[in-house]
Amino acid sequence: MVGAGPAGSATAYHLATRGVDVLMVDKAVFPREKVCGDGLTPRGVRAIQRMGIDPTEPGFTRVDGLRTYGVDGVVIDLRWPRLKDFPPLGVVRTRFDFDNLLAERAVKAGARFDQGTEARRPVMDGTWVGGARVQREGHEEEVKARFVVAADGASSRFAAHAGVRRDDGRPMGIAARRYYRIPRPQEPVLEAFVNLRDEPTGGVMAGYGWIFPLGDGVVNVGAGLLNTFKRFKEMSARKLMDVFVADLPPEWGITEENATGPVLSGPIPMGMNRRPLAVPGMLVVGDAGGLTNPFNGEGIAYAMETGELAAELIADALAKNRPALAHLYPVLLKERPVHAFRGPARVPQDRPHAVRPHFHGEPHRRPRRQRAGQADARAGLPGSRAMKASIR
Ligand SMILES: Cc1cc2nc3c(=O)[nH]c(=O)nc-3n(C[C@H](O)[C@H](O)[C@H](O)COP(=O)(O)OP(=O)(O)OC[C@H]3O[C@@H](n4cnc5c(N)ncnc54)[C@H](O)[C@@H]3O)c2cc1C
Repeated sequence: MVGAGPAGSATAYHLATRGVDVLMVDKAVFPREKVCGDGLTPRGVRAIQRMGIDPTEPGFTRVDGLRTYGVDGVVIDLRWPRLKDFPPLGVVRTRFDFDNLLAERAVKAGARFDQGTEARRPVMDGTWVGGARVQREGHEEEVKARFVVAADGASSRFAAHAGVRRDDGRPMGIAARRYYRIPRPQEPVLEAFVNLRDEPTGGVMAGYGWIFPLGDGVVNVGAGLLNTFKRFKEMSARKLMDVFVADLPPEWGITEENATGPVLSGPIPMGMNRRPLAVPGMLVVGDAGGLTNPFNGEGIAYAMETGELAAELIADALAKNRPALAHLYPVLLKERPVHAFRGPARVPQDRPHAVRPHFHGEPHRRPRRQRAGQADARAGLPGSRAMKASIR
């Protein structure tokens, strides 16, 4: 396992619980910071439950739904839907804590974890990726493996050495976040602002701002933008954050004085924008494969789901001594409900809203005004009719 974010730890956990000998390496020493909104929808909660983690334990802040702020003062509250396959529960927890918890679960399940260890490049056994050159404490060594999984996140340099490339025709996002301690009472909802003002045109941007509650008055405030936005090249994540924060009501207290840290930003690779997702001997999971949902930038759940799928296939391939079984991974990814996050292949520039943030749940408060997209909101979780229609 190259990388111990949600993708790496989930893969390692699901391999270890199937009796596979796993070594996970991460160049960082845990716990480590990761720039993120820290929010998990029911999809993400299901993924952590599948690793035996109880989302009601201390450390998680519970959220019961999503509050969306639209243009012209429209506010919609959506409770998480009651569905057979997903719990009606979301949570927020800093990635500093969260990723450490996942890595600990993987270790408890039997995976070995070498921190402060960077995988420099794949070791090739002919055309088969047969391990990795890793560097720790200044010296480099070779680690052999029957399978390698690239879970090295958005930069994905390791996977690139094995020929994985970005597809520029697919969407990409940028986002920034900052923590604040504010006087405003926190409600148990994820707040999303799909009304980011595009000053020069008077329109709205193809992105959204968020405020996610972490408890004790601390909130994660951030904003993200898709590269389908016409003036994307003129924007930066920091500028976007400034636009968003400037528009918030002053009495909410999202001010410089209340910030508890710097603005940090990162890319969001989405819509399966990397390929191939499998090369002989190596599978690519999570952000390394561009496996974030282009409709809302959610990536943790998909990182963990793709990790679980990769683990299932590798364990099966090893048990049956049929290595080719593992390479069904890209095919199965497209067949499973996660295929929904491929997103539209190309977005017409005159219709940037073809890819606008998109959430799922049941409205429980009548909005002040009926608005477009409400039918989508009612349609359920990814894989739903509305989602499928929008990715054709
Ligand atoms: C500002 C922002 C806000 C976001 N908000 C949300 C949100 O609220 N909810 C949500 O679900 N998603 C959100 N996302 C997306 C989410 O953060 C990612 O989809 C998720 O982190 C992907 O997990 P991963 O394990 O694939 O990669 P990562 O979490 O990036 O983990 C990759 C790991 O690999 C390690 N690594 C990299 N290269 C090497 C190497 N060569 N050798 C060893 N180790 C290596 C890194 O140190 C890192 O620990 C957000 C993203 C951004 C940028």
